[in-house]
Amino acid sequence: MSENPLQALLSSLDARVATELSTAPEVVDCGHELDVEKVPIVARKWHKGTDVVAVFADLKNSSQLGVNMHPKSTASVYEAAVGGVVEILDSFEANYLDIQGDAAFGVFWGERRTERAMCAGITIKTFSGTMAERFENKWPNQPDTGFRVGVAASTILVKKVGVPRHPAKQRPVWAGRAVNYASKAGAAADRHELVVTGTIWDRIERNDYLTLTCDCGTGPSDTLWEDVTIERLREGDEGDAAGRRLTSDWCDTHGEEFCQAILSGARTRTTVSHELRNAVLQSQTVNALRDRARRWRQSGGTVR
Ligand SMILES: [Zn+2]
Repeated sequence: MSENPLQALLSSLDARVATELSTAPEVVDCGHELDVEKVPIVARKWHKGTDVVAVFADLKNSSQLGVNMHPKSTASVYEAAVGGVVEILDSFEANYLDIQGDAAFGVFWGERRTERAMCAGITIKTFSGTMAERFENKWPNQPDTGFRVGVAASTILVKKVGVPRHPAKQRPVWAGRAVNYASKAGAAADRHELVVTGTIWDRIERNDYLTLTCDCGTGPSDTLWEDVTIERLREGDEGDAAGRRLTSDWCDTHGEEFCQAILSGARTRTTVSHELRNAVLQSQTVNALRDRARRWRQSGGTVR
């Protein structure tokens, strides 16, 4: 007796699961030169990127947002909000970006990936505040909304998954921690906030332009970032769970200058004293978190 279409579908899926489990797929090491266009769809071949940085931004309260709204208004919110994030990710040269409902993420690799990602993230949170104000003026009875931004990094494997010969039914799949951790870091933020994982903080902690306030008012201070435990990463990765939270936006006066400096690779500001710089590096909490993370890595992930 021949199989009906449903049985045929299920047995072909089962055969694919069996194949995937019986032999490991091929992995092509692309270093820092990933090219999503060249990622295969049919061949069981994944492209490996040595290090990518992901920025994930999702809209807080978006599911409640549309409840009492006209579908056209909800559509406008999505277009203005998610469309805005996509434009920001693109303008900081995200190497790949995608939309997932009320969220958008960008993946950065190659030169200055962390710097481009951080500038994109800070720009998204700055945009988020003004955007939310407009929404609130137009729809005063809707729940508070705005983007929660997360930034994370890892090695990654990428391959297109979907229906061969139908580009509209294919998507690159990012197998690795970066995108997933960035979304979890974002979930530890409130609206208009940005949370970086421990790995990202380690990379930026010596950058005066990112770690310290600008020269407005009383001058630079180390009050810009605060510690945050990314709860959803605690079970898996203590090091990355030791995150830091930023609540400030780009300064109206210094934002452009700082953004350009960061993108150009500058790290040192003449207005910052050694003492202040050391205060950031020697913050008790940061070091405590770092020690815990180091022990966790050395133990192979068993220390809690
Ligand atoms: Zn300023």
